Order: sequence, then C-alpha cells, then structure tokens
Amino acid sequence: MNELAKIKDRALVSCKAYVDGEWVDASSRQTLDVEDPATLETICSVPDMDPSDVKLAVSAATRAFATWKHTTAKERSALLRKWHDLVVENKDDLARLMTLECGKPLGEAQGEVLYGASYIEWFSEEAKRAYGDIVPSPVPGSRALVMRQPVGVVSIITPYNFPNAMIARKVSAALAAGCTVVVRPAHETPLSVLALCSLAARAGIPPGIINVVTCSAKNTPAVGLELTTNAEIRKVSFTGSTAVGKLLMGQASTTMKRVSMELGGNAPFIVFEDADIQKAAAHLLQCKFRNAGQTCICANRIYVHDAVYDEFVGAFTALVKEKLRLGHGLTEGTTMGPMITKRGLDKVEEQVQLAVAAGATVVLGGERSKEAQSAGQGYFFEPTILVNVSDDVPMTCEETFGPLCPIYRFSSEEEVIRRANAVSVGLAGYFFSRDVARVFRVAEALEVGMVGANTGSIAFDAVPFGGVKESGMGREGSRYGMDDYLNIKLVNVSI
Ligand code: NAD
Repeated sequence: MNELAKIKDRALVSCKAYVDGEWVDASSRQTLDVEDPATLETICSVPDMDPSDVKLAVSAATRAFATWKHTTAKERSALLRKWHDLVVENKDDLARLMTLECGKPLGEAQGEVLYGASYIEWFSEEAKRAYGDIVPSPVPGSRALVMRQPVGVVSIITPYNFPNAMIARKVSAALAAGCTVVVRPAHETPLSVLALCSLAARAGIPPGIINVVTCSAKNTPAVGLELTTNAEIRKVSFTGSTAVGKLLMGQASTTMKRVSMELGGNAPFIVFEDADIQKAAAHLLQCKFRNAGQTCICANRIYVHDAVYDEFVGAFTALVKEKLRLGHGLTEGTTMGPMITKRGLDKVEEQVQLAVAAGATVVLGGERSKEAQSAGQGYFFEPTILVNVSDDVPMTCEETFGPLCPIYRFSSEEEVIRRANAVSVGLAGYFFSRDVARVFRVAEALEVGMVGANTGSIAFDAVPFGGVKESGMGREGSRYGMDDYLNIKLVNVSI
C-alpha cells in the first residue's frame, strides 16, 4: 500500500504551494519530485516555482501585513494556540509524512512534531509580552516612550533536517510579533510545512499571513535572490550552512534587511577524567546519532581524557552496537534512518576515506550499509566510530552532518579547550565532569552559543537557540526569540 495513503487526514497531504490562502501551482506549471530517501521512490510532486511566483507571494504577505499588524496580541495569541492544538491532535499524520520525506524513525518524527508545537505554544504566550519602556526624559514635561513594532514581511529559508520544527519555530515567532511570512522549505522536504499550513488555515489564521513557495535546486538561487532582495521584504530568517548564510546575508545587505542566521556547527563533546562514563556514553548516543547525525547541534568531535579513553571507547562502541538499528523510519524497531540526501552521503563517505588515508582507524561501521545497497535501497550509512583521527582532516575541521563519531585523546583541560575552540564556528558544545568548579570554568571558556554540561540535550522552547562566530546571529525560542521580528521605535512626547 502506498505509504502516503496511510495518512488518515488526507487534507494534510498537499502537493501544491500555498499563497494568499490558496493551494496553487507554479506559474510555469513545472513540478519537482519529492522522494523517500530510504527507498528512493517518488512520494509526490510539488510546484517548481520561480521568482515570478515569489513576487506574488510577497505581495500577498504585504497586503496581509496591513491588517495583521493591527490585530491585538491577544487575537494573535488565540490563533497560534488553536494552531498548536491542531498540530498536537494531528501529530501521528504529521510524523508519518515527515518520516516519508526525510527518513527519520517515526518516534523521532513524532518528537519533532511536538517539539515544533512547543514553540507555537510558547510564542502564543509571548505574543502578549512585547512590552516597551517609558524612559525618564531630561526635558521638563516630556515623556520618552520606547515601543516595539513588527518589522514587516519576513522571508524564511530552511534546510531539510527538521522540516517541521525549524519552520514552526520561526513562523510562530514572526506571527506572534505581528509579521507575515513567505517560507521557502528545502526542496527535499516541502510536505511537512504544507501540512502545517493546512492546519494553520483550519485554525483560522487568515490568508496571506503564511505563504509557502516550493522550488527545485535548479530554481533555488533565483528564488533565493528574490527572497533576499525584494524591497517589500524587511527581514530574512535563514537556517542552513554557513556558506549559504554568507551569500544570503550579502544579498540582503543591498536593501539593508534585518537578518537572522542559524548556521552550521562543529560541536565538541568532552569527557573529562572525572565524568560519569556510562552517562556520557548514553548521552553521546543520542546527541551524535539522532537524525542519523544530521543535526546542527549534534556532537561532531569527541574528546576523551587519556585516563578514561579506552574505557569510554569500549563502553560507547558496545552501546552503539546494542542500540542502533538501521532501517526505514516506518519499520518497527528502526532507531536510525537513512541520510536525507545523496550529497550528504557522499560527503560522509569522503570524510571517512580522507581520515583513514591520514592514519585513522575505523572501530565500527565506516561505509554505506551493504544490506541497504543490495536491497537497492536509499542513502544508508553505517553508524561509524573512528580513533586516531588527525586534527587537520575535514572530519575534524568541518561539520560532518552525518553518523560519524571520531574520538580523540586529550591530557589536560587547557589543551582540550584550545582544541575545542580551534574552529571558525560556535553553535553548541558539551562536556561531562563531576567537578563543580570545572563545570563553570569550561562552560564559560567554550566559544559557543549553547552548552550542555553533563547532558547532550539542550534545546527547548523557553531557552535561546543560536550560535556565535560563523554559526550565525540571532536567537530563536525563549523570551529573546521575538526580538528579531520587532523594531524598536522611540516616541518622544512634549506635553
Ligand atoms: P544549505 O545551506 O545547503 O541549504 C539550506 C537551505 O538553503 C536549503 O533549503 C537550500 O535549498 C537553500 N539554499 C541553498 N542555496 C540557496 C540560495 N542560493 N538561495 C536561497 N536558498 C538557498 O544547508 P543544508 O545542507 O541543506 O543543511 C544543513 C546545514 O544546515 C548544516 O550546516 C547545518 O548545521 C545547518 N543547520 C543549522 C541549524 C541551526 O539552527 N543553526 C539548524 C539546522 C541545520
């Protein structure tokens, strides 16, 4: 049976783009195929839009902004809350759709739907808290008011790894602030956001507030140019690689748009000699292999102190062998799905080959899944552990974005901090230690936006998500998350 047919609420499966409250085709009538990365079968086709379609979506968002910005915070809050409730009610269908387009195990997909929903709920509450200030004036009889107003139309561009939560987190903050949006999801995974739109419409969010344009890799540069240079757009919110982030930021600068950039990471995960080894290994399993390692905050470089190195590598390897089962995300018992794209798979394979050529040893995995290959299946790569990896190969210096786990030795705190910080990005960092003084010292020394101390799990709706250095700028979620969508205005009143 076609897996798509198992989605209970068929209205959630849309193969059209969403502009001005209508389900539409590309003006060119061109389409692009969406494939299941576990089987390489086509799931459905969606419109392959071009800049002319983007212009229509931006116009719709501009018209909608004229009224949306005057709605009360309470009204926006109530609509977001209804949207949240519908997402939670439909979590099983949304998760199944997500597993089909991006391969992650169904349980992980359900977790992502609820994680995305938690941001919609959070911003439905924050909508009512866009407070300003009244500042004492030095001029007798004057009053100085600082108020916050929505920035306007926002373009949102996202990657394939969290097709629901990335978008839910950005859109809900924008709508709460009173902005309208044009979303361009990754071409590999457009179905999750189209399903979210269907639920937003059902919740009563008016036409034009959320618009989604879909397009192929071929049309992406032109569509991206329109989304970053169209004068009616006042802000660009991007999640993706640092290279593309730099390009988009440059384009956005021509009309001085505000930008939020959630870019790549290369997270260190440090196990000190005083760590709880079993706990560190269990947290690394999740932190490294969730979503087959295609998570911007996942551990990328594992540093283990000499004194506990062999013990840790043994315990962690045993855990990976016991817990990870590669397979289709909809198959019972699967704990790791395929990689989402062929280019991601090729990159991982190349990183292993280069590390091994430079002297690394593969302890576990190290290649494409033979079983999957012989069954003619998709982009599966074995969970992989390596030792003796050099500090100057791509696996160390660049983000892997796949299921590779290089484990390095270190012998002092000073040395490991230096190596952890010796990269151009700074998104997340993790470490395990039972020494309280060290916990604060290391947390403060790591050059990252988010730290997990004795945990590999850091993100939730009420805390700020974002990076430093070339991992970008701006924060999502938390009480800071609406700031990126609000302008500050001074009103000086002489009475
Ligand atoms: P990518 O930068 O190649 O693509 C991201 C999105 O941008 C995709 O939808 C892509 O189609 C689009 N894009 C590419 N070129 C474009 C252009 N010229 N104009 C407009 N859009 C363009 O990244 P990817 O490989 O798809 O995703 C993985 C990257 O995303 C990793 O680096 C990962 O760390 C990062 N990421 C960051 C966060 C975060 O919150 N910091 C979260 C998830 C992923």
